[in-house]
Amino acid sequence: MSTTVAVATMKAVQVSRVGAGLEIVEREVPEPGPGEVRIRVQACGVCHSDALVVEGSWPGIPYPRVPGHEVAGVVHALGAGVTEWHKDQRVGVG
Ligand SMILES: [Zn+2]
Repeated sequence: MSTTVAVATMKAVQVSRVGAGLEIVEREVPEPGPGEVRIRVQACGVCHSDALVVEGSWPGIPYPRVPGHEVAGVVHALGAGVTEWHKDQRVGVG
């Protein structure tokens, strides 16, 4: 007898390795750690530092890598100890 456990997944755009370009993949939805929130991203900017990730000219970063660090969305889950944010709150991250 086997047990199937449903795992929530999300789409992400990642660079699997230097020179591989961008690809859309399914990833497990991460749980926020203590002091963190998980954001349901509605829009994401792409800037020059993301181009450096794609090109592999940013030293010392691990791959696969999901570029994009300038997002707008809503708080979807709260980690332990988070009190200053609430679920469904609209947020932006620079
Ligand atoms: Zn940037």
